[in-house]
Amino acid sequence: RAFLDRIAQIDGQLNSFITVSEHTALEQAAAADKILSEGKGSSLTGIPIAHKDLFCTQDILTTSGSKMLHNFVPPYESTVTQRLAEAGTVMLGKTNMDEFAMGSSNENSFFGAVKNPWNLDKVPGGSSGGSAAAVAAGLVVAATGTDTGGSIRQPASFCGITGLKPTYGRVSRFGMIAYASSLDQAGPMAKSAEDCAHIMQSIAGFDEKDSTSSENKTDNYLNSLNTPLTGLKIGLPKEYFGEGLDADVAKVIMDAVAEFEKLGATVKEISLPNLQLSIPSYYVIAPSEASSNLSRFDGVRFGHRCDDAKDLLDMYTRTRAEGFGAEVQKRIMVGTYALSEGYYDAYYLKAQRIRRLIKQDFVAALDEVDVIMGPVAPTTAFGLGSKTNDPVAMYLEDIYTLSANLAGIPAMSVPAGFADNMPVGLHIMGNYFAEAKLLNVAHQFQ
Ligand code: GLN
Repeated sequence: RAFLDRIAQIDGQLNSFITVSEHTALEQAAAADKILSEGKGSSLTGIPIAHKDLFCTQDILTTSGSKMLHNFVPPYESTVTQRLAEAGTVMLGKTNMDEFAMGSSNENSFFGAVKNPWNLDKVPGGSSGGSAAAVAAGLVVAATGTDTGGSIRQPASFCGITGLKPTYGRVSRFGMIAYASSLDQAGPMAKSAEDCAHIMQSIAGFDEKDSTSSENKTDNYLNSLNTPLTGLKIGLPKEYFGEGLDADVAKVIMDAVAEFEKLGATVKEISLPNLQLSIPSYYVIAPSEASSNLSRFDGVRFGHRCDDAKDLLDMYTRTRAEGFGAEVQKRIMVGTYALSEGYYDAYYLKAQRIRRLIKQDFVAALDEVDVIMGPVAPTTAFGLGSKTNDPVAMYLEDIYTLSANLAGIPAMSVPAGFADNMPVGLHIMGNYFAEAKLLNVAHQFQ
C-alpha cells in the first residue's frame, strides 16, 4: 500500500509506469502476508517489484511501449514474470520503455518520455528507462529489464542503480516481446548487487520453452557474495578510455578502480581492438532481426488495426504506418534492406563476421583477467530532447555496452559516484556464466 501510494504521489512527474496493476498487487500482497504468517516463503515473498512492459503478463496489458500493442492483453505469462510471481513477489505494474526496446533515452515511447528522478530535465536512459527511474525513486524495490545493447546497464548508470545483463541464454526469453533475438537478455535492476542476486536466484536457469536457454547449472548467487577480492585481476581496455569519454566520468571510474586495488585487486591495461566496430555491426544485426521479428504485427492476429481497410494490403500498410513510431519504422527499413537479396553478404554477413572478432577479443582478454572494467556510457544522463534529432549521437551513446551483447558475456552497471551531480555507473564485464563473480565483485564495492 505504501509503495502504491508513493507511485500515486510521484509518478505523475516521472511517467515511469505504463500500467499500475493495483488490484493484482493487493491480491498478491494478501497472499504473501498469509504465506509469511505461516512462517513460509522465500526472500522475495511480499517484495514489491515492477516489470518492463515487454514481458507478457497474463490478463494484464503489455504494450512494449508501442501504439501497435496499446490494447494487447496477453493470454499467457512470460517465464521471468512467472518465476518471480511463484517466488512470492508483488507486481505493482508495468514500466515505461522505448518502443520495442529501441532507444537509449526512453524518448521513443508511445506513452511519453520518462524523467530522470535525479533531475527532471534529463533522460533516465533507455530502453528500460521506466524500470530504472521507478527503482531510483523508490517506487519499487526492484524491477526487471531487458538488455539487447545496453538497455539494462545504461539506464542503471544514468539513474544510479545496479543492473545486470546475464550471459545470453542464462535467463529465458519466453514471453518477452522480441527485439533482436540473438542479443536480447532479461535481467534484474535494483538498488544493490545483493538485491539483484535475490532476483537472479529466481529467474536464472534452463527453460524448455526457450530454444536458446542454457542447460548449464545455475550458481547460487547469494552464497558467493562475501568472497574477498584478493588477487582479483581487473583489465582496463584502453579503447574504453579514449576519445569521446567525458573527463569527469573517467575520473569517477578511475577512483572506483583505485578502491578495488585497496580491496586487493590488481589492475592491468588490456585491449579490445574491435570496439569501434561494435556500433556499425550492432546497428546492422539488431535492425535485421527486428525487421523479421516485427513482421508479426500485421493487424491480423493482435494489436492495433487501422479503420476501414480497402483490402488486405491496405490494412497491412496502414496498420503498420499508424502503429509503429518513427524509430521503429526506420529500423524495420534498415533491417529489411540489409537482409534483401544481393545485400545480405555485404551487410548482415559482414556484421556477423565482425561480431565474431569482437567475441574473440573478449575471449582473449578474459584469458588474462578475471573481470573487465570501464565506463557504461561516455557521459552522464543527457538533457531531454538534446539528442532526438541526431541519431548518430544517440547511437554513439551505446559504444561501451553493445559489445557485451554481441559477445554474449554478462555485464553489470554499478553506481560508482557522481559527475556534475548526476550518477555514474561502473561497467563490470566477465566471462560466460560468471554472474555470481560479477555480483560478488559489485557487492564488495558497495
Ligand atoms: N540503445 C540500443 C538500441 O537502441 C540498445 C537498446 C536495448 O538494449 N534494447 O538498440
